Amino acid sequence: MAKKDYYATLGVSRNASEREIKQAYRRLARQHHPDVNAGDKSAEAKFKEINEAYEVLSSKEKREKYDKYGDQWQYADQFEQAQRQQTPFRDFGHAGGATGFRFEGEDMGSLFNDLLFGGGRARTYTRRTRAMRGRDIETPVEVTLEEAFHGTTRTISIQTEEPCPACKGTGLLQNVPCSACQGTGRVPRMKRLEVKIPAGVKTGSRVRIAGKGQPGYNGGTSGDLYLVVSVRAHRQFERRGDDLYVEVPVPLTVAVLGGEVQVPTMKGKLALKIPPETQNGRSFRLAGQGMPHPGNSSRGDMFARVNVVLPTKLSDREKELFQQLSKLRS
Ligand SMILES: [Zn+2]
Repeated sequence: MAKKDYYATLGVSRNASEREIKQAYRRLARQHHPDVNAGDKSAEAKFKEINEAYEVLSSKEKREKYDKYGDQWQYADQFEQAQRQQTPFRDFGHAGGATGFRFEGEDMGSLFNDLLFGGGRARTYTRRTRAMRGRDIETPVEVTLEEAFHGTTRTISIQTEEPCPACKGTGLLQNVPCSACQGTGRVPRMKRLEVKIPAGVKTGSRVRIAGKGQPGYNGGTSGDLYLVVSVRAHRQFERRGDDLYVEVPVPLTVAVLGGEVQVPTMKGKLALKIPPETQNGRSFRLAGQGMPHPGNSSRGDMFARVNVVLPTKLSDREKELFQQLSKLRS
């Protein structure tokens, strides 16, 4: 590919203003217009060149890309995207980020060849088969507290990539960048996947599914898939870390005289002994009845908070007894 210098074509300097570029274009376009050079092939070619140069330099966006990437300016977006893919950990707050890529000279040219023609048999281009790891994918998953307790599975849809069927992943059709994939060799694809969510996840947990992210380039490894978990609030249990909190209604007589109540847990009801004269609001700890902890066998606790229920709709006899009690206690 011959290098084109659009500034030289229009005869302006690299820092020419929009107005200067426009003036230069008008002057040259008049001079080389096919209408005034009928049958002159070289004028026709020159006219095309001028128009191409003006199309790029008159657009602020295209001119910026051209200034940065030269001949390869049309692939600026792909290049920048690939560069982002090269630093998959940046999004996740890990260390890293330096890519070692240079934007000028040969290195960039060969990188473009990697991008455009990676994996293919592009005889007319030199290319470097630099292995690049595929990008990580993140997807949100909502689970109930019960599912977080037992662990669960989900079938999710993720957007991934696959080799472009038009160019068989080479990015190249008859030695020009493939239009179906803009020369990247890849096209997007929705993929359904069954994933396992381990017991003990909490809101904000990131479950890593290794190797299920975007496929790598040139034999590079695939990225990972991260499930970003949120656990729905439960109508009965409140979760703090691995511990669970629940309110237990205790009849007045049981609170005063002692007895037994049923406490709901994630695995069904448990009998709880209430000692005599238990105060309202007192908490009882049920060891090991909380949430499992991912990655080990430890479990949180359940805290049952006593909510003394005062009697209503008293009978005459009950009222009488409360009156007697009241005289005794005053
Ligand atoms: Zn293609």
